[in-house]
Amino acid sequence: MNYQKELDKLISGLEKEGQVPKLLLHSCCAPCSSYVLEYLSNYFEITVFYYNPNIFPESEYTKRILEQQTLIGEMKTKHPVTFIAGNYDKDRFYEVTKGLEHVKEGGERCFKCYALRLEEAAKMAKECGYDYYTTTLSISPLKNADKLNEIGMRIAEKYGIKYLRSDFKKRNGYKRSIELSKKFGLYRQDYCGCVYSKQARELQDSRK
Ligand code: SF4
Repeated sequence: MNYQKELDKLISGLEKEGQVPKLLLHSCCAPCSSYVLEYLSNYFEITVFYYNPNIFPESEYTKRILEQQTLIGEMKTKHPVTFIAGNYDKDRFYEVTKGLEHVKEGGERCFKCYALRLEEAAKMAKECGYDYYTTTLSISPLKNADKLNEIGMRIAEKYGIKYLRSDFKKRNGYKRSIELSKKFGLYRQDYCGCVYSKQARELQDSRK
């Protein structure tokens, strides 16, 4: 499945009809959202939904959420971009990933983590009357776009909301996010977010 082509088709249909739908965009962090906001805000009215109870420690969570708000405040976009923060439900993350603590990044633990965040976004999108929901997560070369789209669609069906399928790393999306991070002076973390990914990064660094 070429998610980028599918998105191109959908956007060209919206442009022909002069529609600007409302999109709830789950964001994991400011750097990943930078390219997605630059791109999609030309076609959608976006609300960034920051729901990331996976992030450890709390000081890191605070740093990332503030960086996200700063970026939204500084970026110039064609259509408005607003912001909503979800709860920092740390216990929920540990509940859904129980027993998967030692699974390598990119495996089953991450799929549960994607689903936790996407489900909260879908619920919010449905309750607040958005036309679509999606996530920035597919921009990362370490994130499985097929799995994200599969989970996003499954949850979309459950809540009766449309999921915008994507693979934002295509068209040099990841590269552009690095350029934009430099331009806006964004903090770019060196681990995905949870305590397990932090420990894995520290172990990797200690072996250098
Ligand atoms: S490595 Fe990243 S995606 Fe995987 S469980 Fe941890 S925070 Fe979630």
